Amino acid sequence: MALMTANEYVESLRKLNTRVYMFGEKIDNWVDHPMIRPSINCVAMTYALAQDPQYAELMTVKSSLTGKTVNRFTHLHQSTEDLINKVKMQRLLGQKTASCFQRCVGMDAFNAVYSSTYEIDEKHGTHYHENFKKFLTFVQDNDLTVDGAMTDPKGDRSKAPSQQADPDMYVHVVERREDGIVVSGAKCHQTGSINSHWHIFMPTIAMGEADRDWAVSFACPTDAEGMYMIYGRQSCDTRKLEENADIDVGNAKFGGQEALVVLDHVFIPNEYIFLNGEYEFAGMIVERFAGYHRQSYGGCKVGVGDVVIGAAALAAEYNGVEKASAVKDKLIEMTHLNETLYCCGIACSSQGFKTKAGNYQIDLLLANVCKQNVTRFPYEIVRLAEDIAGGLMVTMPSQKDFDSDTVVGRNGETIGEICNKFFAAREGVSTEDRQRIMRFLENMCLGAAAVGYRTESMHGAGSPQAQRIMIARQGNIQGKKQFAKDIAGIQ
Ligand code: SF4
Ligand code: FE
Repeated sequence: MALMTANEYVESLRKLNTRVYMFGEKIDNWVDHPMIRPSINCVAMTYALAQDPQYAELMTVKSSLTGKTVNRFTHLHQSTEDLINKVKMQRLLGQKTASCFQRCVGMDAFNAVYSSTYEIDEKHGTHYHENFKKFLTFVQDNDLTVDGAMTDPKGDRSKAPSQQADPDMYVHVVERREDGIVVSGAKCHQTGSINSHWHIFMPTIAMGEADRDWAVSFACPTDAEGMYMIYGRQSCDTRKLEENADIDVGNAKFGGQEALVVLDHVFIPNEYIFLNGEYEFAGMIVERFAGYHRQSYGGCKVGVGDVVIGAAALAAEYNGVEKASAVKDKLIEMTHLNETLYCCGIACSSQGFKTKAGNYQIDLLLANVCKQNVTRFPYEIVRLAEDIAGGLMVTMPSQKDFDSDTVVGRNGETIGEICNKFFAAREGVSTEDRQRIMRFLENMCLGAAAVGYRTESMHGAGSPQAQRIMIARQGNIQGKKQFAKDIAGIQ
């Protein structure tokens, strides 16, 4: 099968028996649900841009497994150029959606599991790498979206998986059979889980011998028997349920998605298993996946940042203040911060190296520095955007008021006319355009999209402390001491 079109992707989701729950109920037609659909449109964009000749070079690539043209989101990086193109592709998608487009978690899982399974087999004589290659060929041939599922609920954080009062706090093997394993547990805040055709499950922390049953990685279809999702709600999400609320929603076309994914005794056939008890490799998968996803943020968040900066500049223009030096300087600062993140994404890619399995890995130190900056700079960019936009982005009446015919004025003016009169700004700019940009900024800074641009910048791909641990490990303080000793003449 060739690359899917955006529409074929959306239709392919309907064929799955994915079990989705929201507001305490099962949602049967979740594909058309107004709260879910924007997140599907977002993933669909990864298919649409791959069909666009203008972006074909960035979005598509020759498969290292089959030689066929595949979507870059299913690709194993073959060079530092591939790693750089990945970041560029993510920036492009961020610019086109102003949201989390979700498909990267699978791409990052592919690359982490591909190289790790090679090394597991090398030590243990297992055949996880062959399993994985077969699985990825199937994914590439069918142009599938795959969720990379890592974050377990974790229960009592001071205890290892095997010490938890409830063993389900980490995904684990409950039964080993001749033909496969049965697994239970859950993964929290899974990006794009419902919009994926398949899932790759991976451990979330390094493990010891006692955690053998929790050291497990495998692929399974999103509608596997025993698997279901409970939708994560977002700030202001029910605005999407209101009639004619496209302006109030802020970004009515696109959005991100997270869900709680539950595995209740799901059977995994042998051919889809990539780790099963080789506990000393759990940490390797975590480190590699996290490294790739920390690189990813130097692309996707930068693309979204581009849109935030553009929206702030438009807000200033509509208010007639775009020539004020203070506004110009704020836009410079926002650009400086955003491009610094991009520098990190490009740097960790250009310093990448070949793994034993043959695909390319990013520079871990620089990728962690990248993500550490992402835990800060988008917050500052958003602060400056709010500064430029002014309070109206959170105090403006609803679209229903702007549309209202109810008479309120002594000369028969309607609520709509009054709103349009008092929220007009610069001449030649429609009040509606001003409304649109204010609501868009509200959405980006503290509405539904702030999930992706703010809190996800903090905690996605690992919380700040996780990067600091990696920076400590990779920072080579001993080597730096030696530099100082050599020059200072200390033996
Ligand atoms: Fe991709 Fe960014 Fe979303 Fe992660 S947060 S899935 S890198 S868009
Ligand atoms: Fe993320």
